[in-house]
Amino acid sequence: MGTADGAIVGATKILDHGSDTDRWTIVIVAEGYRTAELAQFHNDTQNFLNTLLTTAPFDTLQGAINVYRLDVSSTDSGADDPVGCGGTGATPATYFDASFCGNGIQRLLVVNTTDVLNAVNANVVAWNVIMVLVNSPIYGGSGGAVATVSRAPAANEIALHEIGHAAFGFADEYEYYAGCGVDVGHDQHPTVEPTQPNVTINSNRATIKWADLVLATTPMPTTTNADCTICDPQPDPMPAGTVGAYEGAHYYHCGAFRPQFNCRMRALGFPYCAVCRRRIVQTLTPHLPIKSILKDLKELKFEKFEHKEFKVEKIEKPEHKEIKIEKIEKPEHKEVKTEKFEKLEKFEKLEKIEAREKSEFKERKPEKFEVELDKRSLEGPKFKDAELEPFDERSMSERVARLESSMARMSHFITPQQRPDLSRGALSTDGDARPRTPAKRSRPPRRPSGARPPSR
Ligand SMILES: [Zn+2]
Repeated sequence: MGTADGAIVGATKILDHGSDTDRWTIVIVAEGYRTAELAQFHNDTQNFLNTLLTTAPFDTLQGAINVYRLDVSSTDSGADDPVGCGGTGATPATYFDASFCGNGIQRLLVVNTTDVLNAVNANVVAWNVIMVLVNSPIYGGSGGAVATVSRAPAANEIALHEIGHAAFGFADEYEYYAGCGVDVGHDQHPTVEPTQPNVTINSNRATIKWADLVLATTPMPTTTNADCTICDPQPDPMPAGTVGAYEGAHYYHCGAFRPQFNCRMRALGFPYCAVCRRRIVQTLTPHLPIKSILKDLKELKFEKFEHKEFKVEKIEKPEHKEIKIEKIEKPEHKEVKTEKFEKLEKFEKLEKIEAREKSEFKERKPEKFEVELDKRSLEGPKFKDAELEPFDERSMSERVARLESSMARMSHFITPQQRPDLSRGALSTDGDARPRTPAKRSRPPRRPSGARPPSR
């Protein structure tokens, strides 16, 4: 069973937004399709693509995406279906030797990953994620080095879930492994912080990975499981879409939290949660073509925008709109130019303006930028408050606690695990993870007398 059981037919680019090295490129690979069934594979692939391009946030990032289809024929149809997991015992001869029942779990559909990587590397020069479409009606999928998905009824939903693992490093947000009421040893999550961006063992409002998305009015943790021997049966006590810390995640009933009550990484049929959406946007945005960024600029579609060469931020002021364009040159320094616009029509000239800015960037010295930033942070509203309000120990303690809580978030921005892989244009979960010294710059100075931490 393996590559002797079929042949690679070839790769076809079915979505082309430009160079594969610039775009975020998906390769969809056929497994368990006989030659006569490859037309079905083409249909299945197009079907998935239509779903992907209408699913948030991919729908607004289409320009960043290229897609290839890799036709591979197999001697037989389907995938192995071991009796050990309640299957039929079928063992069709297929090119990538797909099989259900990985780790003894029926729905875990696995393939020979090495053979898949070899086949893709031999046919597509640059790619970001591989999805293997397996020609079987049995429910299943998996997401690791490559994503797999079967042709089960919810296939496209499964594919979006598995791509979440394979392309964005998401964890499963559900609180069981084999199943609720079936699992043994899944009551308490180990006291080790998961590396994935969408699950955590830390429900502290100030230091949780997605702290900046949690409203001050949201209880933390948002839910707790009253009986850690079972999956938490309680419904969502919060308005839909609330970001907080919901207990029960990453295969454990207790001791691990997910950002929202539901997410595609927890249950099929739900949108990606805010934390997952943000990671997708941050991963794909650097792959957007420059033209599409200029178009979005013109339409002011965004608040912040990040590209591998620059960052753009819209700033609304009472008197005018500002677009801050920040060129990313080297990790050790950055330069910023702010342009003001009275009317949207002026965006028509943006291409020229942008070209002019580039030469100005070269002439400016980083030191000047540092000074400007310092000045801006000193003018921040919090500092002004501190100057104007009469001193009182209790309010000062609260203010210090607030500052320390915001500082805790700042430091989590730049942990080594969250550094962006700049070589691929990837960004961290928090956007700007390039080294800097916010601890000094953005922290308003404490009052000289009486300002103590709340409890020591
Ligand atoms: Zn999620």
